[in-house]
Amino acid sequence: MPACKTPDWVRDALNERRAHNLLRRVRPITPPQSTHVSIAGENFVSFCSNDYLGLANHPDLKQVMADAAIKWGVGSGASHLVTGHLDIHVELETALSDWLGFERILLFSTGYMANLAVVSALGSKQRPVVMDKLNHASLIDGARLSEAPFRRYLHNDIDSAAKLMQRFDSPGVLATDGVFSMDGDVAPVAELAQLARQNNWLFVVDDAHGLGCIGEDGRGVLAEQGCTAEDVPFLVGTFGKAFGVAGAFVACSEDMANYLTQFARPYIYTTAMPPAVAATVLASLEIIRSSEGYARRARLADNIAMFRERAKRWPFDVMFSNSAIQPILIGDSALAMRVSKQLESARILCTAIRPPTVPPNTARLRVTLSAEHSPADVMHLCDTLDLIFNDECK
Ligand code: PMP
Repeated sequence: MPACKTPDWVRDALNERRAHNLLRRVRPITPPQSTHVSIAGENFVSFCSNDYLGLANHPDLKQVMADAAIKWGVGSGASHLVTGHLDIHVELETALSDWLGFERILLFSTGYMANLAVVSALGSKQRPVVMDKLNHASLIDGARLSEAPFRRYLHNDIDSAAKLMQRFDSPGVLATDGVFSMDGDVAPVAELAQLARQNNWLFVVDDAHGLGCIGEDGRGVLAEQGCTAEDVPFLVGTFGKAFGVAGAFVACSEDMANYLTQFARPYIYTTAMPPAVAATVLASLEIIRSSEGYARRARLADNIAMFRERAKRWPFDVMFSNSAIQPILIGDSALAMRVSKQLESARILCTAIRPPTVPPNTARLRVTLSAEHSPADVMHLCDTLDLIFNDECK
C-alpha cells in the first residue's frame, strides 16, 4: 500500500518513546470484550476492561440495542441542535435526571467530549480553571481550549486547591475526577464542594468511574459523600464503563444546561449519539437501579475485597480505595512491562500504565475488577502475581 514519506520529526518522536520503553500500541481483541477475551486465537482472562458491572455483554441489553436499531435506524443523522435530538434522547435525559436529582441532563457521544464541553465553556480569560493534578486528560484539554488561566493542585489536597484559588482575583471553575482513573482513589468531593461554594467558584465532578459502582443506588461519589446538585453544580458521567455501552452526560441546572447548549462547542458541533445507543443506556440504567444492579455491585465489592486482602502480601503498594480500579504501584516502567508480559504468558491480561499517562517513576499495573470475574479468576490473578513477585523480588 503506498504511503507518504514519514518526516524525520515523526520518526524521532517514535524512537524517543521506544527508547524509553514508552511506546503505546493498539492490539485487536476478538469480541466479546470483557473479562474473557481472545487475541490472535489465544484466550485470556482480562483485568483491563472498564466494564465494571459486566453489562457490555448482557443478553437483554444486546437485544435492546438490536431492536432499537431496527426500530429507529443506526444513526441520529444530525447534531442535537439540528434534527438529531430524538424522543429516546429525551427519555434517557429524564431518567438520568430522576436518578441523580439534577434539573437537566445533556447527552454526549463520549466522556472526553462531555468534559471538554463543560470546562471549555465555563473557563475563560476572566474565569480561571483550577483542578487536581491527576484529573483525566479531557478535563485538562477543556481548560486548555478555554484559554483560561489554568493551575493544577496537589492530588486530593484541599489546602493546595485553596491556595491556588486565592491567587486569582475573580472566581472561576474548580474541577476534580470523582474516582481517579489511574489511581482508583476517591476525591474529597464534599470538602471541595464547600471550598468552591465559600469562594463562589463553579464546581465540576467527573465521576466516570464511580457512577454505577459505588454509592447508594450506584449514584457514585456524590451519593457516597452525601452531596447533591446544590453542592456539585456540574456532574459528568460516562456510559462506556459501568453502563457497558458508550456515550456520556453532563448533569446541571436548567440555566446552566441552556448556557452549555449555546456555548459548549463539543455539544453543538457534533452528531448526536445514535438512538440505539441511547435506548441501550436507558435499559442499562434500569438494570443498575434494579435488584440485579445491587447484586452486581455486591459481587464487584466481593472481588475487590478478595483482591485487596491478597495484595497485602506483595512488596508493592496498592491504593486504599473501594473502587473497581486497583493499581499495583510498581514504579519502574521496565519492571511494570516485564510483570505485564509474564502475566500475559500465564494468559492474564493486565495493562502496564507508564509515563506520560502517569507521573514519572509511578508505572503501575492497572488492575480493574468486574462483577463478571468469578472468585476463581481473581484467585488465579493473585496466585500468578505471588509467583511473579517472588521471582522478581528475590
Ligand atoms: N473521565 C475519566 C475519568 C476517564 O477515565 C475517561 C476515560 N477513560 C473519560 C472521562 C472519557 O470517557 P470516554 O471513554 O467516554 O470518552
